[in-house]
Amino acid sequence: MAKMVYSCHKCKFQFIRMGEIECCPNCGSQSIKVASKQEEEQFAQRHRAAADRLSRPLKTV
Ligand SMILES: [Zn+2]
Repeated sequence: MAKMVYSCHKCKFQFIRMGEIECCPNCGSQSIKVASKQEEEQFAQRHRAAADRLSRPLKTV
């Protein structure tokens, strides 16, 4: 199953999940969408910087 980046329409929180998700883990809203390619890249860049500092892969929540 592919890792997908999602973003919450309500609180703008972005998160990675494997497969389907029904609500935002931050605010519980069901107004979530799969992030666009551009949003996904921005998300990956931010998290790559964090992962480099920790020198271990980003863990999926
Ligand atoms: Zn939210």
